[in-house]
Amino acid sequence: MSDIPFTLTPPEVTPPNQRPIAVYADTRQRATCTGRSCGAPIEWAEVVGTGARMPFDPNPELLRTTHELGTMRRVDHLALAANHWRTCPDANRFHPRKP
Ligand SMILES: [Zn+2]
Repeated sequence: MSDIPFTLTPPEVTPPNQRPIAVYADTRQRATCTGRSCGAPIEWAEVVGTGARMPFDPNPELLRTTHELGTMRRVDHLALAANHWRTCPDANRFHPRKP
C-alpha cells in the first residue's frame, strides 16, 4: 500500500469565452432585439448543422473562419460567449418556459 496521494491533472479545457459556435457568414444579419425591456442591437446567424438561428451581441468575436466542404459557404466560428441569451434581460423569450 502506498500512502503517496496521486494528483489528478484536470483535463485541458477550452475557456468558456473561447468556445466557438459555427454559423454561416452569409446568414449574419443585424437586427434589434424585440425583448420588451431590451431593445439592444443584435445579430442573428444560422448555426451550422442545426438550421437554428441564434442571436448574438453586435460584433461577436470571430475566432476563426472556415469554408464548408462542397458548398464552400463561409463559416464563421464565433465566440459562444457573445450569445445574446447571456446578456438579454428578456432571455426567457428565447427559451419559453412551459407553464
Ligand atoms: Zn435582448
